[in-house]
Amino acid sequence: MTKPSAPITQDVHTIPRKLPEGGKVNLVGLTRDQLRDVLIEAGTPEKQAKMRVGQIWQWIYHWGVRDFAQMTNLAKDYRAMLVERFEITVPEIVSKQVSMDGTRKYLLKIAGGHEVEAVYIPEENRGTLCISSQVGCTLTCSFCHTGTQKLVRNLTAGEIVGQVMVARDDLEEWPEQNTPKNETRLVSNVVLMGMGEPLYNFENVRDAMQVVMDGEGLSLSRRRITLSTSGVVPEIAKTAEEIGCLLAISFHATTDEVRDKLVPINKKWNIETLLNALRDYPRLSNSERITFEYVMLKGVNDSDEDARRLVKLIRGIPAKINLIPFNEWPGAPYERSDWERIESFADIIYKAGYASPIRTPRGEDIMAACGQLKSATERARKSRAEIQAEAGL
Ligand code: SAH
Ligand code: SF4
Repeated sequence: MTKPSAPITQDVHTIPRKLPEGGKVNLVGLTRDQLRDVLIEAGTPEKQAKMRVGQIWQWIYHWGVRDFAQMTNLAKDYRAMLVERFEITVPEIVSKQVSMDGTRKYLLKIAGGHEVEAVYIPEENRGTLCISSQVGCTLTCSFCHTGTQKLVRNLTAGEIVGQVMVARDDLEEWPEQNTPKNETRLVSNVVLMGMGEPLYNFENVRDAMQVVMDGEGLSLSRRRITLSTSGVVPEIAKTAEEIGCLLAISFHATTDEVRDKLVPINKKWNIETLLNALRDYPRLSNSERITFEYVMLKGVNDSDEDARRLVKLIRGIPAKINLIPFNEWPGAPYERSDWERIESFADIIYKAGYASPIRTPRGEDIMAACGQLKSATERARKSRAEIQAEAGL
């Protein structure tokens, strides 16, 4: 396993929000303030700017409109100006796979020809969209397939919000004008549990979530958004204060020795440092509890002793422990713990007073489960390369 020796954010190439001179600015992912600024820059009188922001915002995020011509409450010449200077673009769906259990995995193409994945998981009373924050990941958690892929770049706020919009397109979830509002939401929850470490792309993730949470648009409450981090300690308090969403921690081990191997960021911020940073989160974010994610790896972190150590470690932190049966991927160096082992582990946690749901793997037949993302793409790329080689290209 290699760890970058330079500060991790230094090699991150973020695409600027504004394209070079002459290019159109994508309005998707701009916060209200940023949208106001670009509209004023484009000649909108300051006095009107707030109203224009409200109108355009509603078209884009409430009605799902992509074409300025449909923004009928704006004057024709104003719409013409918008067409000239701006665009409303979301990632393009390259392919979609639907699992036997209804899970949908989208392969999305973003600027520069890069690809990321998003997964929609329908459940009885809700639907969760799992979105990506980076192409690849700088970290190298040894059980995670995304971790075997180098970081290509951070996603822009627009590309993060765009994943939610694309899923709504595919599920045909945008409201129709003049028809009653549909109260059951298909995308009712968002989890930042796809590819990448969201806290190494903090500003874009924060701006994107501000757009997603805005009450006049996509309107998902902050309690319906969960950000999962491997434990980027300096960003945790900021997440509470500037996003305020629910937090999940990829905990996965109960000793530094084991966590160093599974989640190598532990060498930078160890278990004690991480837990100290977490103690303030519920108060700062005014949320009830933190989710501790714990992947069950046979013979590595799944003993009864681990379970007992885990509850001792998190004592005093309002928490729920989410046990994730390991999702295997080709070449993975671990195996999933046996079912009885997982149940025995869950039992100890439950008896200690914590909720300990075992996450049902979803979309396994299409490799859409946690930690499996990007694998299919890599395979597809490889086979294309092989095909080209065979064809002598
Ligand atoms: N980078 C962030 C979010 C993406 S991973 C993080 O690490 O938290 C989402 C969750 O899936 C994390 O808890 C991660 O540890 C877990 N995960 C990764 N690979 C997995 C695998 N193969 N099986 C089960 N869970 C996995
Ligand atoms: Fe990156 Fe999360 Fe995978 Fe670790 S588990 S390599 S932080 S995506």
